[in-house]
Amino acid sequence: MSDDSGSGALGPMEDLESFRARAKAWLADQVPGLAAGGVPAMGEGDGGQERAALAKRIQAALYEGRLAGPTFPVEYGGLGLTVAHRDAFNDEVRSYGADAVDLFNLVGGLWGLSIGMIAPTMLEFGTEEQKHTHIGGMLRGETLWAQMLSEPTGGSDLAGAITRADLDGDVYVVNGSKVWTSQADFSDMAVMLARTNWDVPKHAGLSMLIVDLTSPGLEIIPLRLSSGGTGFCQEFMTDVAVPKTNVLGTPGDGWNVASRLLVHERNTVGGGSTFHTMFVGRGSGGGTRRNAGVGSVGLARKVAGPGDADLVQDAMKDHVTNTVSGHLAARVVEAMAIGALPPAAGSMLRLFGSMAGITSSDITMEIAGTSAVAWPSDGSAPGSAVGVGYLGRQGGAMASGTAEIQRNIISERVLGLPREPAQDRDVAFKDVRTNTMPSGTAG
Ligand SMILES: Cc1cc2nc3c(=O)[nH]c(=O)nc-3n(C[C@H](O)[C@H](O)[C@H](O)COP(=O)(O)OP(=O)(O)OC[C@H]3O[C@@H](n4cnc5c(N)ncnc54)[C@H](O)[C@@H]3O)c2cc1C
Repeated sequence: MSDDSGSGALGPMEDLESFRARAKAWLADQVPGLAAGGVPAMGEGDGGQERAALAKRIQAALYEGRLAGPTFPVEYGGLGLTVAHRDAFNDEVRSYGADAVDLFNLVGGLWGLSIGMIAPTMLEFGTEEQKHTHIGGMLRGETLWAQMLSEPTGGSDLAGAITRADLDGDVYVVNGSKVWTSQADFSDMAVMLARTNWDVPKHAGLSMLIVDLTSPGLEIIPLRLSSGGTGFCQEFMTDVAVPKTNVLGTPGDGWNVASRLLVHERNTVGGGSTFHTMFVGRGSGGGTRRNAGVGSVGLARKVAGPGDADLVQDAMKDHVTNTVSGHLAARVVEAMAIGALPPAAGSMLRLFGSMAGITSSDITMEIAGTSAVAWPSDGSAPGSAVGVGYLGRQGGAMASGTAEIQRNIISERVLGLPREPAQDRDVAFKDVRTNTMPSGTAG
C-alpha cells in the first residue's frame, strides 16, 4: 500500500493498482482543461513555442498530481517507482482516448530529450547539486533542455568536435558553433560537448558543459525546414562564459558522458527507455488518435473501401512492424537489464525504429493518397498531418546517429567485429591533419 511519507511523492511502496487508480482519476480531472485549446500543430507559425508552453503546463500538472518521473529517485523529485508504474500510466492514457493520447504524445516528444536522455545521464555523472537543481527542474516542468553535440563540420564524428572551451579562472570561455540542435529555440538549458584540451587524442580532450541558453554571446538561429517548421537550430558562441562548476562529469571525460547520453537517446527514440516520461508512441494508429499524427490503421479505417485489398495489406504490414518494434524494445531492454546484451544494444532499437519509421511514413503516405499532398487550410483532410510528416521522414532516421553509424556500433560493440580504421585515434588533436581547424589551433 501507499507510503504517504509527506516527501512530496508517494514513495517507493505505492502499489501498482493504487498508482493506476490515481492516474485514472488525475486524467479524468485534468485532461479536459489541458486539452481544451487543442495541441498546436508543428510547422505552423509559432507552433514550437506554443507546444513547449503546453508541454510545460502538462508536466507541471503531473508533478502537482504526484505522477511525474515514476522511475526517478524520490530525492531528485521522482516517485522511486518502477517501469510497470510508468507503463500503467500510459495504459490509462490510451484507455482515456484521443485527447489524452494527443497530450501525452506531445509530452513524450518534447520532454523526451530532457527526461528520457539528459536527466538519466545526470543521474550517472551529476553532482548532488546538479541532480537536485536540474532533474527537479525538469520533473516540475520548469526547464526544457536541448543537446548541443553536432557541429557544422560533421555529426557522425562527434568526438571530432572543435567548439572550444578555454578555462579562464572560474569560467570556461566557449567559442564555436553547433547545429541541428532540436528545440534549442524554445529550451531553457542545454548540455554542450566542447574541447577543453587540444594536446591529447580527440576522445580524451572533451568536456560536457551545462549551458544556460540565455547566456550572453550565445546566438540561436532557428533553421526553416521544408515542412515549414523550425525543428532545430544553429547556435554561434562568442566568448560565452560557463561556470567551471557546470561541467557534467569530470573535465576531459566528455566523450564518456556523451556516449552514455547517446545510449539514453537511442533507448528513448527506440522505445526502450526506462526513464522516459509518459509516452504513448508512434504506433500504427490503433484507432484512438485523431487526424493529427494518425497512423496507418486509423487512416485506413477512414479511407479504405471494400475493394482496397492492397491498402489494407500495407496498413497491416505497418501494424505488424510497429507491434514487433514494441516487443523488440521490451526484449532488448530486459536483455540489457540482466547483462545479456551490452548498453550499446540500444542501437538495435534505434536502427529498427528508423527503418520502421521510414516504412510507416511511406505506407501512410500511400494510404492517404492525394489528401497528403494538398489539403484545405483547416487541416481537416485525413492526410494533412501525413504529408507534413513525410517531409521529415529521412530526418527521423538520422537523429541520434544515422543507420550507418548504428550498424557500426552494433557490429563493433555488440557483435565484437573489428573496429573501423581511424588515423586520428592516438594523435594529439591539435596534430590531427584537417582543413577545418580554427586558425591558430593546429600545431
Ligand atoms: C531530426 C534531427 C534532429 C537532430 N537533433 C539533434 C540534436 O538535438 N542535437 C545534436 O547535436 N544533433 C542533432 N541532430 C544531428 C544528427 O545527430 C546528425 O545529423 C547525425 O549525427 C549525422 O551527422 P551529419 O548530419 O553531420 O552527417 P555526417 O556525419 O556528415 O554524415 C554524412 C553521411 O556519411 C555517413 N557516415 C559518416 N560517418 C560514417 C562512418 N564512419 N561509417 C559509415 N558511414 C558514415 C553518414 O551515415 C551519412 O550518411 C539531429 C538531426 C536530425 C535529422
